[in-house]
Amino acid sequence: MSVQLMAAKMAEVELKDVPNKELSAVSPVTPKADEKGLLNSECNASAPSPTSQATVKGDPSPVTSTPNPMKMPQASAMKRPDPQQNGGEAFVNRDGTVAEAPRMKKIQFADQKQEFNKRPTKIGRRSLSRSISQSSTDSYSSAASYTDSSDDETSPRDKQQKNSKGNGDFCIKNIKQADFGRREIEIAEQEMPALMALRKRAQGEKPLAGAKVVGCTHITAQTAVLMETLSALGAQCRWAACNIYSTQNEVAAALAEGGFSVFAWKGESEDDFWWCIDRCVNVEGWQPNMILDDGGDLTHWIYKKYPSMFKKIKGIVEESVTGVHRLYQLSKAGKLCVPAMNVNDSVTKQKFDNLYCCRESILDGLKRTTDVMFGGKQVVVCGYGEVGKGCCAALKAMGSIVYVTEIDPICALQACMDGFRLVKLNEVIRQVDIVITCTGNKNVVVRENLDRMKNGCIVCNMGHSNTEIDVASLRTPELTWERVRSQVDHVIWPDGKRIVLLAEGRLLNLSCSTVPTFVLSITATTQALALIELYNAPEGRYKQDVYLLPKKMASLL
Ligand code: NAD
Repeated sequence: MSVQLMAAKMAEVELKDVPNKELSAVSPVTPKADEKGLLNSECNASAPSPTSQATVKGDPSPVTSTPNPMKMPQASAMKRPDPQQNGGEAFVNRDGTVAEAPRMKKIQFADQKQEFNKRPTKIGRRSLSRSISQSSTDSYSSAASYTDSSDDETSPRDKQQKNSKGNGDFCIKNIKQADFGRREIEIAEQEMPALMALRKRAQGEKPLAGAKVVGCTHITAQTAVLMETLSALGAQCRWAACNIYSTQNEVAAALAEGGFSVFAWKGESEDDFWWCIDRCVNVEGWQPNMILDDGGDLTHWIYKKYPSMFKKIKGIVEESVTGVHRLYQLSKAGKLCVPAMNVNDSVTKQKFDNLYCCRESILDGLKRTTDVMFGGKQVVVCGYGEVGKGCCAALKAMGSIVYVTEIDPICALQACMDGFRLVKLNEVIRQVDIVITCTGNKNVVVRENLDRMKNGCIVCNMGHSNTEIDVASLRTPELTWERVRSQVDHVIWPDGKRIVLLAEGRLLNLSCSTVPTFVLSITATTQALALIELYNAPEGRYKQDVYLLPKKMASLL
């Protein structure tokens, strides 16, 4: 079966009549969260997670470490990644790099900080940065804005904006970029067959007729395909960006030209960010009845500022780890007043995003940063879960000699069955050319390992947290750091040995490469199906809880 056909089948789902027994409410296993701090949107990330793996200190060598029997069925189980285990969310820095967001930080609502009309100066605006729930590690933007006109410094908020039809209900960087953005959207459509098939199949049926969807996601060409699909299915949409840097200005322009109420531009200040969200929600004569969120900021803005809106809202669809975590907190505190769909843990996301996305982007990230030749290189991959499997497959295919370390006996066996050599990190650390961590664990590569690496060894991480490699241990006086390229540091030992550290140990692919549109198509289709399901669900099918997409729909994706 061709990929296109398979993807088209993803949309061949029953949009209605999903039997109740297939609905799976996910019981919150969230570790002790500060429930009171919840509405202040404080994620208590320091509390130890009962579900977290034990930190492997010192030698994280596989076979000697105690296997965790609880992990044994993990390869096929649907899991809810624990942000507390994995560290903070990633966010895009001003220079385009991705960093882990500071944890334990409250969302600062604009009303606590400043009035919208008392905006900072242009310089002040630029120096502001978003504090929390920046771009999630599980919701990607491959957004490079090709038409970013940095010479136009006027804030979009200070401009009179109108599209060619005279509609001015939007706020973007430059409407003149619309044609260029349209081409970007058309290119994305080619690689989003599932969404396009859903659009084709359901536009007659209009399962979202009457839906008023307020969205807060990355505004990229892929999101535009999603928005136009929702619109074709009958929904009205108003949209803001979930990240201040990830908006493709030309795409936002194309959407505005097409009649969408979009409030977003690349390089928003924190104040702009909340202003845009508010403009989506606070509008005369229009009230949302569905929320599509990525990170939870929009949801919490409505909770904080317009709680009565929830009387009309039928459900929330949330994509990111952080947003889902916040929903579980709300649910646990008994404050979730509508049903919510956890897209992050949908099998369609986990199996495609973690495995195939990493299979494709590991090489891209390594190549862009180092121009390394893969053939014949010796590589050790730490962790043979979904991400590790993807990385190993890609490297093997390129002719690398791949070693694997694992602490889970089943995954270790899988690595052997797939033809990889299972080793302890110590056994190969002196000889390997590349070290990649993919475990979600802490201190998988520690200073002792780094000391023993050979000259020129490339070290990088594909896991969520930037603590898989103990980068902090390299910040000692005897070692010299040399920034040789964006995202590439040489760490030099007194004897002249240097290792090549990528993205300072943060996720390599999010920091240094793009993410395949096809994978985003699968996630976006999951979001669209979740909206359709929640919007059309008969009374009583869903309670005020967090759900996974019904298996019948997810399995057909
Ligand atoms: P997973 O649980 O399927 O696999 C992780 C594996 O690492 C497990 O098999 C575990 O036994 C093993 N492991 C744990 N500690 C280890 C150690 N000290 N040494 C060797 N092996 C160890 O998880 P996954 O889906 O593969 O995700 C792994 C990480 O990647 C997570 O942090 C996840 O959030 C992140 N992730 C990254 C991307 C990306 O694009 N880079 C995408 C999805 C997920």
